[in-house]
Amino acid sequence: MDVSVVVAGAGPAGLMLAGELRLAGVEVLVLDRLAEPTAESRGMGFTARTMEVLRQRGLMHRFGGVTTSIAGHFGSLPLDFTPDDGIHASVSGVPQNYTESVLGAWAADLGVTVRRGHELIGLTDDGDGVEVEIRGPGGTERLRTSYLVGCDGGRSTVRRLAGFDFPGTDATVELLLADVSGCDIRPRFTGDRTEAGIVLSAPLGPDVSRVVVCEYGVPGRRTEPVSFDEVAAAWLRLTGEDISHGTPRWASSFTDAARLVTAYRRGRVLLAGDAAHVHLPAGGQGMNVSIQDSVNLGWKLGAVVNGWAPEGLLDSYHSERFPVGQQLLTQTRAQGLLFFGGREMQPLRDVMTDLIRFDDVNRHLIGKASGLDIRYDVGPGDHPALGLRMPDIELITTRDTTGAGRPGKTTVAQLLHGARGVLIDLADDAALRRTAAGWSDRVDVVTAAPHDLPPYDPFAGTAAVLLRPDGHVVWTGPGAGELTTALNGWFGTPRNGS
Ligand SMILES: Cc1cc2nc3c(=O)[nH]c(=O)nc-3n(C[C@H](O)[C@H](O)[C@H](O)COP(=O)(O)OP(=O)(O)OC[C@H]3O[C@@H](n4cnc5c(N)ncnc54)[C@H](O)[C@@H]3O)c2cc1C
Repeated sequence: MDVSVVVAGAGPAGLMLAGELRLAGVEVLVLDRLAEPTAESRGMGFTARTMEVLRQRGLMHRFGGVTTSIAGHFGSLPLDFTPDDGIHASVSGVPQNYTESVLGAWAADLGVTVRRGHELIGLTDDGDGVEVEIRGPGGTERLRTSYLVGCDGGRSTVRRLAGFDFPGTDATVELLLADVSGCDIRPRFTGDRTEAGIVLSAPLGPDVSRVVVCEYGVPGRRTEPVSFDEVAAAWLRLTGEDISHGTPRWASSFTDAARLVTAYRRGRVLLAGDAAHVHLPAGGQGMNVSIQDSVNLGWKLGAVVNGWAPEGLLDSYHSERFPVGQQLLTQTRAQGLLFFGGREMQPLRDVMTDLIRFDDVNRHLIGKASGLDIRYDVGPGDHPALGLRMPDIELITTRDTTGAGRPGKTTVAQLLHGARGVLIDLADDAALRRTAAGWSDRVDVVTAAPHDLPPYDPFAGTAAVLLRPDGHVVWTGPGAGELTTALNGWFGTPRNGS
């Protein structure tokens, strides 16, 4: 093989995946057809779960001082992101191109090579490896890899060439968008509706606003790029305000087309991010789910390449992330109807507005929007934390094999910086530590007590928890026997093969 894994696409999904693979010690090459990183601001921030996964890799501080917000919406209807704990808050005001530059710098620090100006144009999966054809400035070349991951966006070439099914619904509306400076534009966070359509606007920074225009009856079958003049003309038609003198930073269009692949893996080819799912960017989900796809996949693919993956581990990428993709389409379709539906949708908006005032409804919707309610099927057991992500709890450690240094104060996120499994032993149980010793090349063991518990206590009723590298709980103690089963099931056979 020329390289263990080729990742097509250096967007958020591709860069996150490349970093995760490097943390697993895997050799990875990233290709991107663009000669330079894009300046598009698209995704403007992080959901609570994305913040957690970035913190798990020690990445949040690279973004500098971000501000979190508890204000949210579901298809323009206000949501309150503070039920009991405040941990559902999201980050806004971080343009996607900045996120990509941070992820790119992290990946580079880990030794990832990104070949820009190199487009994947062909692939053949012969069962033993994948031959990829690449067009670059110096012409066309071929190279061979063990696995290819298409992180090449909504129009994915990898998806098409590898023959993935991508069913869904075509566009029914088209939305025009521009980031513009030099205009005094009143914020319209939840949209102003007229008979002819809806307009939204939000400040992106000093003197920059994002405007979005949806004119009813325009189905969105555009093949040419959008000009700022078109956006300004549509804005004028719906608001009566002239913004044509403004300076555009970016103009684009998008639709409510919604599609999801039927499988995230075909042989040695996998998909992550928009390559696997496209939908209306309502509710700020796409980039976030894409990053989380990669965090789910990275360690599993790393385990396969490193030769210790238990049977079925790589297939769990599809079985875990496909339902998340289904939810993503359902949620964004519903939000699209509420947001961009016409007058006929008003009764439903009124009913939903009443319902959202109920705590349980608010909690249900923010669980979906924040990504915090994702529970994977991790096998037998009835502890409420099983399958959920472990919140970022402060711990006082007395014994620590993470290599993080002296025992003392730490956090769950810090324990996961190395993208390895973590056994948190809450009862100073020597038998558990002995059991886990056979996996010490894949699983760190930390003896600790929680320091500052959130209102939701995932440790209640357990003496130990086993976390996967993505921070999901796959086993809760006591019981060294069941721990062995869980370690075998998620981390393969121990070093001594027993
Ligand atoms: C207007 C708008 C607003 C949005 N707002 C939000 C938001 O607030 N929050 C949110 O979470 N999401 C948002 N999104 C969605 C978000 O932008 C996408 O979900 C995200 O970019 C997906 O990341 P990705 O890495 O999968 O794909 P992309 O970001 O599309 O990256 C794909 C990369 O692959 C490269 N590529 C393509 N083909 C090839 C090839 N053949 N060979 C090599 N390279 C190739 C491309 O050049 C690109 O760099 C928004 C989207 C839009 C359009």
